[in-house]
Amino acid sequence: MLNRTFGCVRLVWNKTLSERHGVYHVEGKRTTCRETDAALTRWKRTEDLAFLSEVSSVPLQQTLRHQHTAFANFFAGRAGYPRFKTRRGRQSAHYTRSAFRLRDGVLNLAKTSTPLRFVWSFDNVDITALDPTTVVVSREPDGRWYVTFAVDAEAPEAADPTGHAVGVDLGLTDFPVTSDGRRIPNPRHLDRRARRLARYQRRMARCRRGSRNRSKARAKAAGAHRKVRNARQDFLHRITTALVRSAEVIAIEDLDISGMVRSHHLARAISDASWGEFRRQLEYKCARAGRTLVVIDRWYPSSKTCSACGHQLAELGLTTRHWTCPGCRARHDRDHNAAKNILAAGRAVARGSSGDACGADVRRQGSSLPRSAMKQETRVVRHSA
Ligand SMILES: [Zn+2]
Repeated sequence: MLNRTFGCVRLVWNKTLSERHGVYHVEGKRTTCRETDAALTRWKRTEDLAFLSEVSSVPLQQTLRHQHTAFANFFAGRAGYPRFKTRRGRQSAHYTRSAFRLRDGVLNLAKTSTPLRFVWSFDNVDITALDPTTVVVSREPDGRWYVTFAVDAEAPEAADPTGHAVGVDLGLTDFPVTSDGRRIPNPRHLDRRARRLARYQRRMARCRRGSRNRSKARAKAAGAHRKVRNARQDFLHRITTALVRSAEVIAIEDLDISGMVRSHHLARAISDASWGEFRRQLEYKCARAGRTLVVIDRWYPSSKTCSACGHQLAELGLTTRHWTCPGCRARHDRDHNAAKNILAAGRAVARGSSGDACGADVRRQGSSLPRSAMKQETRVVRHSA
């Protein structure tokens, strides 16, 4: 039943997406929520698509909501154009309150006759006391199944003041380098897992399309992919949590991520994929802990400015790891120097001055941050001033 639900969710998403696309290109019109809901009702009445009524209608309506949000994000410039869902990607079905019942830890989903058995993975949370607003059932490309419960929670307390500020440069070799001079290399097991993933992907590419061997190789590659992803998430959560705990002001650079994903080198590809996630985690953890996150404009010359005297080099090659300032003879490590500059620029912004001492263009925060985070931020800045 769940596999069938996934199929219907995918069909509704893809069919709606292609119709939306057509309407936009032929008539230049955007499609409303009401129109997509009406179309779904119409489809269920046709002979070909009557099977859509055999699964719970809630996940189908939810996928229409999600597509609507995806388009709102696209039109606001926050996300790319929504894509078609494939049979091989991650599958999910969202059940809101009317479509599930959770009582004494027993979960029943709409249109199923027996409870859904699952393993609870949070020892410190009592499942019988849980009151979820949404239940998400998903299947990963490697065939693993997950049930996710969404609950409303109280806003957490602000973290303790530390009086510390830190600048972070996302260096090319080590992952982040902080203005305190700490460099945090990718964990070795991550590189090893990534190499294994690359090997499975090559093996898969060699198999004939549609063959049994290819689907076996695909399952292997998906499993290896999950391990890389989990190891990377774990690593990123550790460093972002440590940063947010240690510093009240955190300054990072706004990197041109879409321009960087084009690189093909393996190690680079891993860290490229991490940068966006690193920032996302910092954003929500700072907002939650009442910390200030300052995002410096990507054109700010953090690498080629001397953090000691402010001298700016005309050129600094990508391969140059160390350099000596012609102005004050200070010897610099490329990434550490950049992190110090990012911190200085971040401090200037957090203090509320316009631009920093060098007159560089420094922007306060990206528009992608939720509003509440910005409100919280100004409050904290005023408090510490
Ligand atoms: Zn200098």
